[in-house]
Amino acid sequence: MSDCIFCKIVKEEVPCSKVYEDDLVLAFLDINPVNKGHVLVISKGHYETILDIPDDVLKELILVVKKVSKAVKEGMNVRGFNVTMNNYKEAGQLVPHAHFHIIPRNGDDGLKAWPSGVYSDGEIDGVLNKIRDKLVV
Ligand code: 5GP
Ligand code: ZN
Repeated sequence: MSDCIFCKIVKEEVPCSKVYEDDLVLAFLDINPVNKGHVLVISKGHYETILDIPDDVLKELILVVKKVSKAVKEGMNVRGFNVTMNNYKEAGQLVPHAHFHIIPRNGDDGLKAWPSGVYSDGEIDGVLNKIRDKLVV
């Protein structure tokens, strides 16, 4: 994808602060971190969302996410971290090249948890069935 900013980073047309690289995967610091040490982990190939990433590539990606998360936790001396991924613009995805966020967290960083909702009486079973009916295993 010639106009994709992350593809340009992969091709070294745009610089990045590289944390890790192998044949399939690149990890680098987010330029506008939620907290300092915020890392993005991407596949070198261009896939828009997690649903587009081939399984063999995704397996490698998540293993790198785990390794880098440990380094972020220890290197940034934080007690926790979030691993998140925005898929599609409706979920907040700004860069349409799939990426995992690793965000170092301390309890006092002021970030709010997501709000929690409720199910009405009996509603949860209907929701469960909608998802189970579509599950391909
Ligand atoms: P999204 O909202 O798509 O999940 O997150 C995209 C992330 O990419 C944002 O956190 C943003 O700060 C980061 N980002 C966008 N452009 C660049 C860039 O050119 N370099 C780096 N290092 N990060 C970027
Ligand atoms: Zn791309």
